[in-house]
Amino acid sequence: MKIEVKNLTKYFGNFVALDNINLEIVPGELLALLGPSGSGKTTLLRMIAGLETVEDTDKGEILFNNIDVAKKDIGDRDIGFVFQHYALFKHMTVFENIAFGLRVKPKKERLSNDEINKKVTKLLQLIQLDGFANRFPWQLSGGQRQRVALARALAVEPKVLLLDEPFGALDAKVRADLRKWLKELQEELGITTVLVTHDQEEALEVADRIVVISKGKIEQVGTPEEVFHNPANEFVINFLGNVNLFHGREEDGRLNIDSSLE
Ligand code: ADP
Repeated sequence: MKIEVKNLTKYFGNFVALDNINLEIVPGELLALLGPSGSGKTTLLRMIAGLETVEDTDKGEILFNNIDVAKKDIGDRDIGFVFQHYALFKHMTVFENIAFGLRVKPKKERLSNDEINKKVTKLLQLIQLDGFANRFPWQLSGGQRQRVALARALAVEPKVLLLDEPFGALDAKVRADLRKWLKELQEELGITTVLVTHDQEEALEVADRIVVISKGKIEQVGTPEEVFHNPANEFVINFLGNVNLFHGREEDGRLNIDSSLE
């Protein structure tokens, strides 16, 4: 799925939440929207999702495979979602949580119970939770729950996966593990993924490309290496300056990066 955002400006009242955003999301890539809190990342993701629409007072287009969906709602877009605060169904087992989207499909599209069993079993392997099918959410760790939330989103085989700070509520060690896992999973599935994060290390580690956003504007788009080696402006330098994943140091006012990825 190719997604294009063209000249998108979004107002909340008089406040400009997104200011002339232009962006192309390449099929199969993992794109990170990176920026400080309040910069407009979630708004952009929600607009891509169709949870927030382009009103008459706004401007711009959102194209899914060349079709403008800006004024259409979420039903017309083939997407899966995972938010920071995972919302698994508490009264359902892990298995039923993952199967949920498959069971509520219209009858003519619905898989048989056998097929659902096979699919959920495969997804449980993918998220490395075989043997957890009959547990309830309260019997899982935060990281495990978030993996189940991802499996649930993936069960219906969406063309696009949208992740809003999916690991934000977890502690650093679990987050680091999940980042590695997400990267591997995304590479294996090749599903077009947009990840919202304020965490520079997270973006650097998992993204194919990073979009740096500040105050509703795009400051830079590039691969992690491009963004970290050649920051486009002062904002990007300052925002990334304290990341130590590349063991970046500021010398003579420039980022001097001793890259661990090279
Ligand atoms: P981020 O995800 O980068 O933290 P958001 O997209 O959530 O930023 O918010 C960007 C700005 O838009 C913030 O100042 C926020 O207060 C404002 N905003 C977001 N949603 C609404 C809304 N529904 N109504 C009014 N203001 C909003």
